[in-house]
Amino acid sequence: MGQHGTEEFTCEHCGGINIVEYSDYPEPDAGIVTCARCGSILLEWEGTRDYGAAMLKPDFEDNS
Ligand SMILES: [Zn+2]
Repeated sequence: MGQHGTEEFTCEHCGGINIVEYSDYPEPDAGIVTCARCGSILLEWEGTRDYGAAMLKPDFEDNS
């Protein structure tokens, strides 16, 4: 079975942190993921790692 998990991407347009689920499939595919906050293209992917819809990270964790 392929791996799956989540990755974080920061939107270049609004700075929102998006969490995107991915799964690895044997068949190559392609698609785009858009920012959950502003709708800009967050990620263009191609290959065997399929990315799903983005979710905005609830809040910025700032421990500094
Ligand atoms: Zn954005």
